Amino acid sequence: MTTYSPNEESLADYIASQDSLIQEAAEALPHQFSQCTFPLGHLRQAVYLCLTCAETSGICSACSIACHTNHEQIELFPKRNFRCDCPTEAIAHPCSLHTIAEPVNELNQYGQNFKALFCRCKRPYDAATEKETMIQCLACEDWFHESCCNLRERPNPEDIPPENPDHDPTGNEDADSEASNDLPPALIGPEDYDAFICGGCVLQAPILQRYAGTTGCLVVVRDSPTSPWKTLADSHTDVQNLSEVSPEPEPANDLNRNKRAPSPTGIDSSITKKTRLSPTSFSSTAINRTACVAPIPNETAQNIFADLKIMTDPSFALGTGDIFLTGGFRNRWCRCSSCSKELEIHPYLLEEEETYEPPEDPDSASTLEELGMRALSRLPRERAIDGIHAFNAMRDDLVQYLRPFAQEGKVVNEVDVRNFFDRLLEEQRARRESS
Ligand SMILES: [Zn+2]
Ligand SMILES: [Zn+2]
Ligand SMILES: [Zn+2]
Ligand SMILES: [Zn+2]
Ligand SMILES: [Zn+2]
Ligand SMILES: [Zn+2]
Repeated sequence: MTTYSPNEESLADYIASQDSLIQEAAEALPHQFSQCTFPLGHLRQAVYLCLTCAETSGICSACSIACHTNHEQIELFPKRNFRCDCPTEAIAHPCSLHTIAEPVNELNQYGQNFKALFCRCKRPYDAATEKETMIQCLACEDWFHESCCNLRERPNPEDIPPENPDHDPTGNEDADSEASNDLPPALIGPEDYDAFICGGCVLQAPILQRYAGTTGCLVVVRDSPTSPWKTLADSHTDVQNLSEVSPEPEPANDLNRNKRAPSPTGIDSSITKKTRLSPTSFSSTAINRTACVAPIPNETAQNIFADLKIMTDPSFALGTGDIFLTGGFRNRWCRCSSCSKELEIHPYLLEEEETYEPPEDPDSASTLEELGMRALSRLPRERAIDGIHAFNAMRDDLVQYLRPFAQEGKVVNEVDVRNFFDRLLEEQRARRESS
């Protein structure tokens, strides 16, 4: 008797190369990508841009696989409040999952990502040449190059071996080749922070400007337009935190320059739509019983925001206004009534948003054994082989039988599988008769 090792090559590996089998499986089983999210309405979900169909529309992950398989696509990753455009009139290509033609999604917002442009540099994304990590803004959900956030020099694609014929393979210039090959560490690495908010969004949120450059809210600055970029260290002004509740009122000078009562004028229109102030927040005449424990604003950061607001050429700026919030930031905000009111305008600052994920694919984690047992259970009783011992032997035989199909890239069809079982039954019958 053969033993079963869960690590051995699984039937799933074979199925992967067999398009028709994938389709059959999708029809036969509740599949991960068989449901367009259109009926679920507007939600935060992974969105794909189909360049083949229409540039200012987005499709759900199921449609990206089922309806636009052979089209050129870019994954935009999560976008909040988005409804799949695939079944709508915005896309001429018919949706194969949601077959009722739907009207255009009026409420979807299409930023520059839907024109295949990204970051403040407004560059198109090219997977073939892009060497740096891109960072998604928690607020606007656009993507930013690390270099555009001054976390590193913009890597030059031409410097990267093997395209560099001057590369010295003797190891003499190892440091150089290393630096261009695997990029040097960024000024602030992915493990150093939890969330990124771009300068454009920070400029629209006074509460974020107030925290910039204080504990757990990193900013990248330079001393002059020719100085190197550095992380702004916690300054001596940042002495307050949540555990040191200070009864002192907030300082009025620097702070109020950048702080306005939350009104739609200071807020991005997309955020305004989602603004949900609780009725209690509106009763602003209510006495503020909780002392504000927000940190004293960092002066350097405040100066940068003041500059950015009036600058015509931001290339001279001493910072981008971007902030990097470290782990646990949602628990660190001051929750006094004034700060809470500002935070509630941006619900994602207070609570991690739910992002839709397609339902679990019941097959994705299945072992060959499970898949085989399921297949066997569908066979007529007399064709189901007697017991698990026989199954193990059969599995090995089936793998043997399917191997040439996989190697030759041939599609396994129902007749092939039936032939296998017929042959197996034949052998069993022969064995029974001879015993
Ligand atoms: Zn869809
Ligand atoms: Zn398409
Ligand atoms: Zn579709
Ligand atoms: Zn950029
Ligand atoms: Zn942003
Ligand atoms: Zn406060």
